[in-house]
Amino acid sequence: MRLLIVEDEPTLGDLLRRNLTARGFAVDLALSRSDAAAFLDVETYDAVLLDRRLGDGDGLALVKQIRGKRSETGILFLTARDAPADRIEGLDAGADDYIVKPFDMDELNARLRAVLRRPGKRLATVLEAGNLTFDAAMRRASVAGQVLDLPRQEAALLELLLRSQDAVVRREEIQRSLYGFDDDVTPNAVDAAISRLRKRLRAAGASVEIAVLRGVGCMLEARRS
Ligand code: CA
Repeated sequence: MRLLIVEDEPTLGDLLRRNLTARGFAVDLALSRSDAAAFLDVETYDAVLLDRRLGDGDGLALVKQIRGKRSETGILFLTARDAPADRIEGLDAGADDYIVKPFDMDELNARLRAVLRRPGKRLATVLEAGNLTFDAAMRRASVAGQVLDLPRQEAALLELLLRSQDAVVRREEIQRSLYGFDDDVTPNAVDAAISRLRKRLRAAGASVEIAVLRGVGCMLEARRS
């Protein structure tokens, strides 16, 4: 695993580098935003530890560069305790997590490992359950290789269910994922979408089906009959 640390305090940067190297990472240290940008131009990282307050600018600008190049790079912000707005902006800009200074090295390591585990799940473009697959980039579902033609909202619902396997997806979450603030959503719209997708999966011979927990939500499970 290859890491880039972007930290303009040399002592802290060096401490991080030594610690993370000892924990088995290959580590690059950039002491400025421009150095980091140069590193990112030539190298691909599994994760970037990014201080926001850098001598030559806001570390936030680097997120775009990272995301533009290789979206599965994990980004962990180092933020000051007195700057909660920094964290919100950082997460909104595409960072995966943040850790507040001063931090414990064991905690940092745990957070970093969590970020490194996450990408496959979070950004996987092809999601699978049984004989059902969904290509999130192409927005295309198929059952046993046969393409299933799904309207936009049913495709969004299917994606949500596939990304939350083994867990109940609550009605509120479905509504939030499927409908914008400006959409006119009738009270039974969520139920109707679930019901339509459920029928389509059955009709297509999917080996998984949507189990509905009335009033709570639904989840994907192996088909019983
Ligand atoms: Ca700093």
